[in-house]
Amino acid sequence: MEELAGLNREELTGWMKDRGYPAFRGKQVFAWIHRGADFDEMTNIPKDMREKLRQEAVAQPVSIQLQRESALDGTVKFLFALKDGNCVEGVLMRYKYGVSLCISTQVGCRMGCKFCASTLEGKVRDLTAGEMLGEIFAANRFLDTEGNGEKVSHVVLMGSGEPLDNYEQVIRFLRLLREEDGIHLSLRNVSLSTCGIVPRIYDLAAEKLPVTLCISLHAPNDEIRRRTMPVANTWSIREILEACRHYIRETGRRVIFEYALVDGLNAGEAQASELADLLRGMQCHVNLIPLNEVKERHLKGVSEDTVSAFLKVLEDRHISATRRRELGDDIEGACGQLRRKTIFESRSDTRCESST
Ligand code: SAH
Repeated sequence: MEELAGLNREELTGWMKDRGYPAFRGKQVFAWIHRGADFDEMTNIPKDMREKLRQEAVAQPVSIQLQRESALDGTVKFLFALKDGNCVEGVLMRYKYGVSLCISTQVGCRMGCKFCASTLEGKVRDLTAGEMLGEIFAANRFLDTEGNGEKVSHVVLMGSGEPLDNYEQVIRFLRLLREEDGIHLSLRNVSLSTCGIVPRIYDLAAEKLPVTLCISLHAPNDEIRRRTMPVANTWSIREILEACRHYIRETGRRVIFEYALVDGLNAGEAQASELADLLRGMQCHVNLIPLNEVKERHLKGVSEDTVSAFLKVLEDRHISATRRRELGDDIEGACGQLRRKTIFESRSDTRCESST
């Protein structure tokens, strides 16, 4: 089956042309797909044509298997079902400036970070560009049903998976996001988070796409970083920062460093000070993340006071930093947790129930 969501307008028109359909049909189908419609909703396409398309192709690669809306702040956690029975998570967050959707880029993850729930069973497979877009189509459809005129305006690649470990499809996805008759987002509204796959950061810089690069740093030195992040055995913080400086020069965008505070590991004032030394003079921002304690991992978060003290050290050293707001606390907002809960508490295998 051809996954049409992963084709740009020209490619889709070409695909339709190969089947004897005029170019304008390709444009129509493209617009429908990016509005989240399935073939049976494409009312300006003749019925027999839709029927033929359905036999060969998939319009919507993602459907919502489960959704949970926070009573506290309107955050929505989705469990997205994929056609092969796998599932991934997404989180929709409402801000003053718009609606942000956190999407997954892989089923599972092979990076092995010790604090993360997504990586507990390793990587199952990469998502396709069409599936990443499909997560947005599905979220937009959900927003349509709520009827407040909201649409996804910002996208963060921070769900399950390592985006730079699925480089080609992620780049294709980013380019598709900009398509005029599609989601039509400025890539300035897109953030990509990585654990620091250095060669791919240089590749990304060369693409000249103005996405905000976020680095999951979580430590002020390699020794501490290696204790929770296996990727730190391959690339040093020095190499990551060098790549970030290159990225900043090439794109003019500041880099964001994510730092989850873990009790007894990286959260003391000494570590804050070491972090400040590391980042001095860099065009960057530090996002302090309260650790979401994962049942299977034996790491503890820190108190409010510890966060404040850490933040103060950074501020005193003129490092731009904020504490990340916690949204969706009542709905298993953290990466990987809803999927795990659904899969492992209801069934014994690692697949979701089929979407169809
Ligand atoms: N693989 C990418 C993107 C996915 S994870 C990356 O590593 O950046 C998104 C962010 O959530 C990363 O900063 C990750 O380190 C962080 N994270 C994962 N598990 C967490 C947990 N239990 N508590 C707090 N942050 C966590």
